Amino acid sequence: MTLAARKIRLIIMLRQAGITDPRVLSAIELVPREIFVPEIFRDQAYENVALPIGHGQTISQPVVVGLMTQALQIGERMKVLEIGTGSGYQTAILSKLCRRVYTVERHRPLLRDAEARLEQLGLRNVTTRYGDGSEGWRPVAPFDRILAAAAAAEVPANLADQLAEGGVMITPVGTRRDDQRLVRVTRDASGFKTEEMVRVHFVPLVPSVGEADNGSEHRPESGPESAVPGTAPPSRSEGGAQ
Ligand code: SAH
Repeated sequence: MTLAARKIRLIIMLRQAGITDPRVLSAIELVPREIFVPEIFRDQAYENVALPIGHGQTISQPVVVGLMTQALQIGERMKVLEIGTGSGYQTAILSKLCRRVYTVERHRPLLRDAEARLEQLGLRNVTTRYGDGSEGWRPVAPFDRILAAAAAAEVPANLADQLAEGGVMITPVGTRRDDQRLVRVTRDASGFKTEEMVRVHFVPLVPSVGEADNGSEHRPESGPESAVPGTAPPSRSEGGAQ
């Protein structure tokens, strides 16, 4: 079966899974997922599966990308923050739907590859940053929408705080991989409302920057910019394949 035929099959499956927003479906149709997965997985690019992208991370399952994107109800003039750029696939989908995407990734090599792909696709409304996304991106806050692609134990307060009034955030919550849910946080004049959505399996939100080549992590002493490989003291190793 050709990639194009597999893509059509995937779109039909996404519709059956409740992803019916035409803007979301057309964004998924327009973004070539095959360039966001490692060469050896190309033939699986339009299967409904998460795939490894290196550094113990994964590109999310298409149905999860679809559900999260749809649940955000993104308007074309909106400013969106994404935590966990990963391959850049979800970033590309978001960039088709809003005015500007700000995306943060803690693994520098993943971010570089993602930037190259976004450039290749001519997506110019994306601003990227290497760093710890659990802090959000204060200088450019507030955001109309926030999408976190890594799971924390609770809804990250720093991120919720950077939502504009009328803003919506979708984030996986739960540290145990077999007990995680997507949570939708809505902010209005009176405060925050949270709703639980479907069960999911995301990699953990790791509150530090990563040093990538050997999978070990370094904790910077004075902020992300000091995390030059080899200069920060090694700490625990994590980020194993989820
Ligand atoms: N949406 C991505 C998948 C991301 S997987 C895609 O479509 O490919 C989750 C990503 O979150 C990983 O790349 C991981 O490195 C990143 N991540 C985890 N904790 C983070 C943090 N504190 N700040 C920024 N990125 C983080």
